[in-house]
Amino acid sequence: MQDENCIFCKIAKGEVPTSKVYEDDTCIVFDDNDPLMPVHTLIIPKDHYANIGDGVPEETLGHVFGLVGKIAEMKGVTEGGYRVLVNTGDDASQSVKHLHVHILGGGHMPRPND
Ligand code: IMP
Repeated sequence: MQDENCIFCKIAKGEVPTSKVYEDDTCIVFDDNDPLMPVHTLIIPKDHYANIGDGVPEETLGHVFGLVGKIAEMKGVTEGGYRVLVNTGDDASQSVKHLHVHILGGGHMPRPND
């Protein structure tokens, strides 16, 4: 399942260069190209799902979220802490319509209402 116009599908297929952190059969993990924090890394399934509510198989979701701790460790943010974020739909300002999990860290992040 791929969307030929989707930038993250192109990254998953290796058609667009990216700063790759990790890859396996199901997922690819790469650094955000417009980072909001010193560590800003994205985990995506290789298959195309528009967002977390787009019929993603539980196994795939489990795999994506199961990688969070490993990637946080690889990026060195386990001790200081990190934020895991999934923007979904227009109200959340999701800009790329392919499920992705942000891992943000490397500094203090206030709560959205602070
Ligand atoms: P969203 O706003 O939650 O949809 O997050 C999409 C993220 O993808 C943003 O933080 C963008 O900076 C990032 N992004 C978009 N295109 C690329 C790319 O080609 N490489 C790496 N990150 C990207």
